[in-house]
Amino acid sequence: MLQINNNVSGATERLESGIAELSEFRESDRPGWTRDVFSESYRASRQWTADRMRAAGLEVFTDAAGNIVGRLAGRNPNAPVLVTGSHTDTVDGGGRFDGVVGVLGAIEAVQQLRESGQVLTRDLLVVDFLGEESNPYGLSCLGSRAAAGELTPADLDRTDYRGVTLGESFASFGLDPAAAMASHWARSTPLHSYIELHIEQGPTLEQRGLPLGIVTGIAGIERLIATFTGSPDHAGTRPMDDRRDAMVAAAEAVLAIRSEGCGAPNHGVATTTRVESESRSPNVVPSLVRTVSEVRSVDSEWLTGVRGRLAEEILTRAQAHGVDVEFNWSTDNEVVSASTGVQDIAAGAADQLGVPWMPIPSGATHDAVHMATLAPMGMIFVPSKAGKSHCPEEWTDTADIATGVGALVSTLAALDTTDLPPAARN
Ligand SMILES: [Zn+2]
Repeated sequence: MLQINNNVSGATERLESGIAELSEFRESDRPGWTRDVFSESYRASRQWTADRMRAAGLEVFTDAAGNIVGRLAGRNPNAPVLVTGSHTDTVDGGGRFDGVVGVLGAIEAVQQLRESGQVLTRDLLVVDFLGEESNPYGLSCLGSRAAAGELTPADLDRTDYRGVTLGESFASFGLDPAAAMASHWARSTPLHSYIELHIEQGPTLEQRGLPLGIVTGIAGIERLIATFTGSPDHAGTRPMDDRRDAMVAAAEAVLAIRSEGCGAPNHGVATTTRVESESRSPNVVPSLVRTVSEVRSVDSEWLTGVRGRLAEEILTRAQAHGVDVEFNWSTDNEVVSASTGVQDIAAGAADQLGVPWMPIPSGATHDAVHMATLAPMGMIFVPSKAGKSHCPEEWTDTADIATGVGALVSTLAALDTTDLPPAARN
């Protein structure tokens, strides 16, 4: 296996200057380092990213879905290709590292591979995927979704708060929405495997004092909108034991949802993000309340049971208050396991470099969810200071990013020479 250490000459400087330069492309009227998909700052930043790829020796093109792809030619042009990358858009008020580490880290990996003189057997594609973060159209991972052949006409008809459709936004960004929908990579590019370097976005690695996490799977997400219907009565005259208070039933639901998350055997989290009451008067018992919640886990068996368990618990508690409940569930994404073959190779690479690591689930969604439909998928995490992400305080030390890049280089080199049987996919 190719041995690359963290102190590759110039790596730290290149990573640091790259992150600093890219962070300058931002919306000046928004907090943090905001770079929304389809914005002018995003458009300008992607020119910079493409130039950075070219400077590292990659042959750069933009695919029909707006993904920037840098190709490093291998010895055998017919061999299924290796893919690595991430995204460079941010959430509103976001930070400088989410996604960026995976794109600039991949470019740095190419630089190190070329400097080492090693030529891979197969082509390596470095991708800056279009618009990974959530956006006003309510559809994340635009570029990787399209690459996986999962972008649909209904998706393109989604509108933002101004009534502009996603398809129209593709067009005004210079992309043909029909071509984006048809850009399914499986039709043109056989893939060997996909590996993504990313910040953890949680506190586990820092708390354990470990520089590296090898991702076991990406959490599935179940979303619930629950509507509680009670009775509007005078808040001053209706006795406490004769009320049908929808707010109290909703409050019980918030606690039931929290308990469900606390009881998860594996990585599981449960959050209520919104409680809306139709009651405007302070002297009326609330009769109509809506809650918006989500439950995430990498444990698909536990997550599958969540709907039934929560429905029973929430309904029982609500009925004790004389309140009816209507449940509206949706699955945002299923649990996606990382390929055991790719996990083993990344673990072997870390061990050979002498870098301590732990297996870790991902509670956040990534482009890797969609790339996993095309090829065996894996992810490498580096620590997030205080576990903070999607905020201006987001931070990862350059030394930790350099360690992640070293592991990425060794993993790519090992993947290049390994046949991954179909059984290694999951
Ligand atoms: Zn990300």
